[in-house]
Amino acid sequence: MSEKNILSSNPWRSDGSLRHLLTLEGLSRPLLETLLERSAHYSAPLSVPAARSNALIGKTVALMFAEPSTRTRVSFELAARRLGADVINIEVQLSSRLKGESVLDTVATLESMHVDAFVLRDSDASIPEMVAKHVAPSVSVISGGAGSLSHPTQGLLDALTVRQHRGRIEGLTIAIVGDVKHSRVARSAAQIFTALGAGEVRLVAPVGLMPDEAEFAGCSRFTNLDRGISDCDVVMMLRIQKERMTAAAIPDEARYFQEWGLTRERLQRAKPGALVMHPQPMNRGVEIASDVADGPQSVIRDQVRNGVAVRMAVLETLLAGR
Ligand code: ASP
Repeated sequence: MSEKNILSSNPWRSDGSLRHLLTLEGLSRPLLETLLERSAHYSAPLSVPAARSNALIGKTVALMFAEPSTRTRVSFELAARRLGADVINIEVQLSSRLKGESVLDTVATLESMHVDAFVLRDSDASIPEMVAKHVAPSVSVISGGAGSLSHPTQGLLDALTVRQHRGRIEGLTIAIVGDVKHSRVARSAAQIFTALGAGEVRLVAPVGLMPDEAEFAGCSRFTNLDRGISDCDVVMMLRIQKERMTAAAIPDEARYFQEWGLTRERLQRAKPGALVMHPQPMNRGVEIASDVADGPQSVIRDQVRNGVAVRMAVLETLLAGR
């Protein structure tokens, strides 16, 4: 690391290629389409062996997750390995961290060992950005989830999943339902669905879990579940992000399910065959009924499968041939 690198976290290289992926905000539609096409290339049904390539042989990817993760961490690891990269997992001790300084020390240590990319998850949304500002020019940073701000690879896998099932995003009505206010998944999903031409992106949430008006430009807002999902093509359910709330603000789960839980009956308000999505982890019986989560309209397992493909595409795009 050097002073010279503390310039900005500009995601682009001087040749115009993408170096960091910290957010989907501001990425052009052609670039998003290219990433999705590459993801589709790596997205194999479970009946055939997982796609592999040698694109990242000789590269090293470090995963530094400071918040719990199952799918994102495992799928980044599988993605990197399936492209031939070496992978290291760092246990981030939140308790010993002083305002991000020890993160930079860890990053500097790993840079000295020839790490080519860092995948970071943190409750502090500024951490991936800060690391991106400090790493050497040859090193890339990818967000695996930054506070409630962004989760770019989740947005990509959500868009890929809808495209696989509907053939397009254009013109679709997509409802994002639940704790929108604290959800990084909602922010990245709204950004990519809007960029890819969705007809309407609806935020459907209780008043207390609805984000500020200044956010989510262009999205419509509903504070009633039945009206919010009415005639939708896609219903994306969200977990209540208790970890981002004070204890007093956490809704009572039984009451929440009564008013906001997606049941089979309620789902009938959406278009016939509407897709049901959830980024997971799911709280069955809180934001979604079990029979809906496992039902014929659910594409939740496809979202997980596509997570590996998207992360392969992202790692390849950022690192291959560098
Ligand atoms: N796994 C997603 C995330 O990391 C969604 C969630 O935790 O509710 O944001």
